[in-house]
Amino acid sequence: MPQDPTYPSLTGQVVLVTGAGAGIGRAIARRFAAVGAKVAVNDLDTERVEPVVSEIIASGGEATPAVADVSDSTQVNSMIDAIIEAHGTVDVLVNNAGIVSPMLHFFEADEAWWRRIIDVNLTGHFLVSHPVARIMARNGGGCIINMSSGGATKAHRAFTAYDATKGGIEALTRAMALDLGPYNIRVNALMPGSIDTTGMPLDDRKLRGENVPLGRIGEVSDMTGAALFLASEDAGYITGDLIKIDGGMTAQQRSATVDIMPPSDFPKLEDL
Ligand code: NAP
Repeated sequence: MPQDPTYPSLTGQVVLVTGAGAGIGRAIARRFAAVGAKVAVNDLDTERVEPVVSEIIASGGEATPAVADVSDSTQVNSMIDAIIEAHGTVDVLVNNAGIVSPMLHFFEADEAWWRRIIDVNLTGHFLVSHPVARIMARNGGGCIINMSSGGATKAHRAFTAYDATKGGIEALTRAMALDLGPYNIRVNALMPGSIDTTGMPLDDRKLRGENVPLGRIGEVSDMTGAALFLASEDAGYITGDLIKIDGGMTAQQRSATVDIMPPSDFPKLEDL
């Protein structure tokens, strides 16, 4: 009996989450396990993967390690072979693995920096999706969830390569949705805003939160519901789309602290 009754259609599904050794991926992997999915936990090495596998198993869920660098097709293909041997299929793929650092100004950047970020973030999505989509097609369908960023449409300073990958991931999501739709494979993306994955100091959280329309920085738990919804039967007619989980960040023209009417000038609750 799953601990989390929210998406019973996901119970027993085989879910591969890349970059699940930390942050958003770890939270998504744990939530899929809580609804009774069989989760393959991918990350770069055993040291990152095993603690997540162990915590899922300790809380009554089902998880297996899936070590691979998503930018290396040989490692990816061995990982997929091992998942198929263990579980027979992949029903849901969450392409979460991504890197941001090192952050470099455009003038400080070099080819190796550019290529590594493109390889992990964008090519990694392709390399994992390609064999997995073939498996899904043979099984009658599946769901792929890609991981974008606000940087896809609004730039970060010193993130040229990262933002380029995220714009690419949104275009890739639409293009894959068209090619894979006839095989009953839905492809969508999540767009996190500013999510605290490291336990930021309170002052940093407060400062960042002030510029978010909902007034707070995001938590990794904010990311999990949309992932499960997209993977579920409830999202059965949704493909090629994007869910923004950013507290309203991309909806705003100016940050709250410099807007014409800052939230501090809004009508007070007691006057309503
Ligand atoms: P994170 O805390 O760094 O976790 C990502 C995990 O993926 C790490 O364990 C990382 O290992 C691993 N990884 C890195 N390269 C990999 C590779 N080649 N193959 C397999 N695993 C790899 O990141 P996060 O903040 O949770 O972000 C997850 C996703 O959300 C990323 O795609 C990111 O771009 C996106 N996102 C995050 C935010 C945010 O505010 N956190 C905002 C927008 C978008 P290492 O620690 O060794 O790198």
